[in-house]
Amino acid sequence: MNTTNTIFPTATLFAEVIIPLALPRTYTWAVPQHLAHAVVPGSRVEVGLKQNKKYAGIVRSLHHNAPAYQTKEILNVLDSEPVVFPSQLKLWQWISHYYACTEGEVMQAALPAHLKLSSETVISYNDDHSYELTLLSNDEYLVAEALELRKELKLQEVQKLLDATHVYPVIKKLIEKRICYVWEALTEKYKEKKETYILLNPAYHSEAALEKLVNEWSRAPKQLDLLLAFLHFQKTDGEVTQKKLLEKATASPAMLKGLVEKKVLIAEKRTVGRLISLPKDVKVEFELSEQQETALSQVKDVLLQKEVCLLHGVTGSGKTLIYIRLIEEQIKQGKQVLFLLPEIALTTQIIRRLQLHFGGYVAVYHSKFSPNERVELWNKVKLGDVKIVLGARSSLFLPFHDLNMIIVDEEHDGSFKQHEPAPRYHARDAAIYYASVIGAKVVLGSATPSVETYYNATQGKYGLVQMTDRYGGIELPDMELIDLRKVVLKDKTKPIITPQLQAAIEDNIKRGKQVILFQNRRGYSPYQICAVCGWIPHCEHCDVSLTLHKSSGKLHCHYCGTTYPNVKTCVACGSQDFTQKNFGTEKIEEVLDELLPDAKIARMDIDSIRGKHSHDALINLFEQQRIDVLVGTQMVVKGLDFDHVGLVGILDADGILGFADFRVNERAFQLMEQVSGRAGRKGEKGKVLVQVTNTHHPLLAVIQRHDYRQFFDVEIQYRSQYFYPPFSRIIKLQCKHKDKNIAQQASQFLANKLLGSYDQYLNGPAEPPISRVRNQFIYELMLKLPRQLILLQQCKQQLQSFIVDLHHEKTFSRVQVIIDVDSI
Ligand code: ADP
Ligand code: ZN
Ligand code: ZN
Repeated sequence: MNTTNTIFPTATLFAEVIIPLALPRTYTWAVPQHLAHAVVPGSRVEVGLKQNKKYAGIVRSLHHNAPAYQTKEILNVLDSEPVVFPSQLKLWQWISHYYACTEGEVMQAALPAHLKLSSETVISYNDDHSYELTLLSNDEYLVAEALELRKELKLQEVQKLLDATHVYPVIKKLIEKRICYVWEALTEKYKEKKETYILLNPAYHSEAALEKLVNEWSRAPKQLDLLLAFLHFQKTDGEVTQKKLLEKATASPAMLKGLVEKKVLIAEKRTVGRLISLPKDVKVEFELSEQQETALSQVKDVLLQKEVCLLHGVTGSGKTLIYIRLIEEQIKQGKQVLFLLPEIALTTQIIRRLQLHFGGYVAVYHSKFSPNERVELWNKVKLGDVKIVLGARSSLFLPFHDLNMIIVDEEHDGSFKQHEPAPRYHARDAAIYYASVIGAKVVLGSATPSVETYYNATQGKYGLVQMTDRYGGIELPDMELIDLRKVVLKDKTKPIITPQLQAAIEDNIKRGKQVILFQNRRGYSPYQICAVCGWIPHCEHCDVSLTLHKSSGKLHCHYCGTTYPNVKTCVACGSQDFTQKNFGTEKIEEVLDELLPDAKIARMDIDSIRGKHSHDALINLFEQQRIDVLVGTQMVVKGLDFDHVGLVGILDADGILGFADFRVNERAFQLMEQVSGRAGRKGEKGKVLVQVTNTHHPLLAVIQRHDYRQFFDVEIQYRSQYFYPPFSRIIKLQCKHKDKNIAQQASQFLANKLLGSYDQYLNGPAEPPISRVRNQFIYELMLKLPRQLILLQQCKQQLQSFIVDLHHEKTFSRVQVIIDVDSI
C-alpha cells in the first residue's frame, strides 16, 4: 500500500514540517482526515520525501492554505503530545534566520538521536534490556527478534520486514521500551562504561531503623565493619562504588555479597556518568563575603529591570557562590535553571560543587553521554523533574518546562560558538534571545568578559556588577616577565624552560606547591624541518606541517588525523639532518622530565586526554596533589579551581600575542589573565612567570596590573576605528572545493554578486592562513556589515539566494559554501 502520492482534494488541513536536512525551507504536507485530530504543532510525524526516503519531522505549524504544488500526505503521527514546545520552535526559527541556516539543520542539532528517525537511521539492539519480549505486539516482536539476531538494522530493512505503513510507530515503541536505540549517523559509537554502585536498602534509610540494625547485629562482625565503612563513605562522598568500597575497606567481594544477599545493601549496575540519583535537597550553608553579598543583591536589583546582567568578577572572587545563591532562589520558587559552560570546563569539579548544594536537582548534559541518557534527561527536563541543567551549548535546546534563569559562565569563551556543522550558533547569544522569548533572566559571568558583552554593559543594554577582589583577601598573582632575548644557551638555541623558570618551579615543589605551565596550541604545533635546506614535511591532504609525536614515533596531521612514518631523509636535498621547530606540550613534558627528574609531571592536551588519563582523572590527580607540574594547552585555563598552585608559567607569550586576527588582543588578555587566575587561589599569593621576547608589548603591562578596564578602553577604540565588532557584524563565507581554481572562481562569483550592494563592506576573496584541509581548497570572503537589522537580514537572505545561483552553475554545483555569521 502506497499512499505517498495520493492527492486528497478534500484535505483542508496542512502541516509545515521541519525535517532534519539542509532543505532551504519547510515543506508542506497534507494532513489526511483520519489523522487531523492527532496532529499538534511540535509533535513528530512520519513523512515521505523523494525516492521513498522517510523522515520523522516536526510539525512547525498547521494551516488551511493549500500550497501551489501537489502535496503528499503525512503517513503517521508519532506523538500525541508535542516533543518540542512552541518557544523552542521559535528559538529554532531565530537561529535559522540569524545564522543563515535551515531549520532542519537546527533540528538536527537540537534533538537527541532517539527523536530523529529517517530511512537511513540505524537502530541497534540493546543487549541489556529487561523487557519481556512475549509482551510485545506482533510487529514489535518481529523487529525485536530480527534485532536480537542481527544486532543492527537500518530502518529501510525494517521497512521490508513490516507493512510499510507503520514502521515508525513500531520503532518508536521499541525505543521507548529500551529494546533498541538509535545511533547518530557518522558519530563515533560511544562505549558505555558500567560501574557497580552500592546503596543502602531504603528500609534502613531512617536513622532509627539503621541504629536498630547496627545495635542488634548478630551476623559476622567483619560484615558490620564493612557496613560501617560503607556508611562512612556514603557520608563523605555521597555515592559509593563497589570498587572503592572494597579497596578502601579492604573487604572481600564475598563479604559484600553477603550483605547484598541479606538485603542490607543493594548493588546497582550503572553507566558511569549517567544521571545519578542523589536526594533532592538544597543545602546552602556557606556565608557570602561582604563583597559577594553586595554583588548578589546588585545582580538581583539589576535583573528586576534588565534581562541580562554581566557579573564581572576577578578570578577567585567566588562567582560560583553567587550563582549558587541565585539558583537556590529559583529552586525555592520551583523554577528551572540552565547553567551553560564550555564543554571542556564541564568537569567533575563543577558538577560536584553544584551537587553538593543541590543534590538530585542537578543534571548534566554532555556530548559524551549515550543517546539513552540524553533522551532520559530530555524527558526529565520536560516534566520539570530536573531543576538545574549543567550543560554545554547544546543543552539550550532541551525542552524546559519552566526555565526562569540562564547562567552563562565563562561567557567570553569561544567554544560557545559552534563551528562545524551548521547551525553555527553562539550559545550565549542564542540563550539571550531564548530568555527574551520565555521571559527568563540571563546572568553572564566572567573574569575577562568578551569585548562585545562588556560593551553592551557599558551601553546600559546589560546590567553590570563587578567584584574586584579575590575571596579571602588574597591578592591576584604577581606577574613577572622573563626576557627571552637575554637567555641564550651555549649551543645558541632558545631554551623551552629558562633557568629562571626552572628555579622557580623547583622552589615551588620544594615548598609543597604545584605548578601549571601553559603552552598555547593555536599555530603552535611543532614541526620537523630540514636543517640544511629548510624543507618541511606537510600533510598530503591539508596545507599544514606535520607534528612528530614521540609516543607513536609518527608524524601526525592535526587537521585530518592522517599519520605518516617519520622522515629521515630530506625529500628536497637528501640531508638527514632534521631539527624540531617550535614546541608542543609533549616536547615540554620531555624536557621537564630531564630537568626535574624527581618531579611528578603530567600533560593535559587534546591528545593526552584521549589516552590513558581522561580529563577528569587528570584533574583529580592534580587536586589530590599527586602531580607537581601540569603542562597544558587551553584546557588548563578553563575555570578550574585548585588550592595549591603557587606558580603559573606562560612558556611563549609571543605566540599568543602574534595571531593574525582582529581579536588577537582580546584572546591574549583572556588567555593570560585566565591562566594566571589558576595561581594562588587559596592561602598565599601566587606568581606568574611569562617567557617572552617582545617584552614591550603594551598588553603585557595591562595584564601585569590585571587591569581589564584599561584593556577594554584601548581595545574598544581600536575596534571602532577599524569598524570591527561590536561596531559591525562579521559574516564569513567559505568556498571549498578539491580543485583550487574552482574554489577561487566560486568565491569570485559570490563576490561579484555582492559587489553591487555591499562593495564597501566586502573583503576578499582571499586564501585563509590554512588554505587546504582534507583535500579541499578554501577561499574566503568577509563582510563587515553595519549593525542595522534590516540590512543584515536582507544581506543574509541575498547571500542564501546567491549560493543557490552558484549551485545552479554546472562548474560550481559541488562547491561547498559555508556561511558563518558572527564568526569568531
Ligand atoms: P571564580 O569562579 O570567581 O574564579 P570560585 O567561585 O571558584 O571563583 O571561588 C574561588 C574559591 O574561593 C573557591 O574554592 C571557593 O570555594 C572559595 N570561596 C569563594 N567564596 C567563598 C565563601 N563565601 N565561602 C567559602 N569559600 C568561598
Ligand atoms: Zn633539505
Ligand atoms: Zn591532513
